[in-house]
Amino acid sequence: MNIILLGPPGAGKGTQAARLVEHHGMRQLSTGDMLRAAVAARTPIGLRAKEVMDRGELVSDEIVSALIDAELTAMGEGVGVIFDGYPRTVQQAEQLDAILARHHRRLDAVIELEVDEEALVRRICGRFSCANCGEGYHDEFKPLRVPGTCDRCGGHEFKRRPDDNEATVRKRLQVYRNETAPILPLYEQRGIVTRIDGMAAIEEVTDAVERALASA
Ligand code: AMP
Repeated sequence: MNIILLGPPGAGKGTQAARLVEHHGMRQLSTGDMLRAAVAARTPIGLRAKEVMDRGELVSDEIVSALIDAELTAMGEGVGVIFDGYPRTVQQAEQLDAILARHHRRLDAVIELEVDEEALVRRICGRFSCANCGEGYHDEFKPLRVPGTCDRCGGHEFKRRPDDNEATVRKRLQVYRNETAPILPLYEQRGIVTRIDGMAAIEEVTDAVERALASA
């Protein structure tokens, strides 16, 4: 199966994608993760993308679509894919259609996680992760059991994304409304969109996602 997880930043796309990877052996393709890796490795793409990302704006359609195309080429045909944070514009959605056709894949489902914007700002601004094992935390909703120590691996270093501050989050939400939400009608016409309440507990969202995939 090939599916798109759609929703504003902080809606829980990454969390749900990780669960699908665990339960179904699918591959998560997150353009945000790929770009952050490029920034960390100081590749030419990373150097160009960093400032755009720090401002909460979108990296060019050509760059992100090329990243996705390259990953699909490297992966071969047998593995199901979850697109997380891509496509984010109408042009990317069109590019994805062409990429999928080239790779003999079809899009089975688009899952939209619906969330309340003010709650998102709170969710995103408090989040951080262990620099060693990547476990995610939140100042308010999922604090460390022992201050300064990762519950999972015992690590003592943590990181926050530079774009997880209120001003940038509000910008990213605005970009989502203006640039990304308009791609939904394209997929609605094909009858493959399921809307899920992303404000529900993580387990409930996962159950709803599983039900949507079972009927896709
Ligand atoms: P994310 O981790 O998905 O929230 O992405 C973080 C940032 O990376 C975004 O705010 C954009 O600057 C950039 N980015 C990620 N995915 C895309 C995409 N599909 N198109 C354009 N920019 C993207």
